[in-house]
Amino acid sequence: MAPATDDDLVALAALRAEVEACTLCELHATRNRAVPGEGDPASDLMFVGEAPGYHEDQQGRPFVGQAGKLLEQLLASIGLTREQVFIANVLKSRPPNNRDPRPEEIAACRPYLWRQIELIKPKVICTLGNHATKLLTGDPAGITRVHGRPQATAISGHSLYLYPIFHPAAALYTPAMLTTLKEDFLRLPELLAHAAPQADAVTATAVAHDAPEAAPLAATDPSQAASSAAPDAPPAKPEQLGLF
Ligand code: URA
Repeated sequence: MAPATDDDLVALAALRAEVEACTLCELHATRNRAVPGEGDPASDLMFVGEAPGYHEDQQGRPFVGQAGKLLEQLLASIGLTREQVFIANVLKSRPPNNRDPRPEEIAACRPYLWRQIELIKPKVICTLGNHATKLLTGDPAGITRVHGRPQATAISGHSLYLYPIFHPAAALYTPAMLTTLKEDFLRLPELLAHAAPQADAVTATAVAHDAPEAAPLAATDPSQAASSAAPDAPPAKPEQLGLF
């Protein structure tokens, strides 16, 4: 874990202020407080949820309701606290009645998340549920298909692994999902211990990532960069990452 530079901390604070004053989409009119995100700005591990709910909107903090309690328990299962990771959301403002985020809201909020990733430089981003997973992978494949499988990628030129898992709020009401979420979570330390993917291993996927209409991301074995990054190579299977 590299310490955050003073410049990064200043930039994160400025970004926070920008989010708190944001009026880019209509959600600003109904929110109580914006929820920029919080945690250790130098953490190797970042979580991205969907959007603030009632309690988050009241407090201006992410994951402080029931789903947040579960997230804290899951973190404890791998010896971490919420203060040791960075927690953010796709949307920084609560959609009324917790409805699904709309495409124009995601598009308006996306640059904030990208900038957070650029400044925090995590090794691993856990995407919680469908919305975060689809946005960050650039792939419409749903969470049920892709959960628990690391995907090498690059965001804003920073190489990292995406690790999609079920959203804790969904797992609260579905015991089978909770079991899977706990199992996927227990594999995080192994992924974190793995070196960050090499920059050239993710060049091709980064291009796909920045162009949502392009081919879905291939999970890339960093040691096989040249062959798996070939434009017409079939997507590598997650098992080929050598992890899990
Ligand atoms: N669900 C989310 O996706 N984000 C939060 O911050 C809280 C609940």
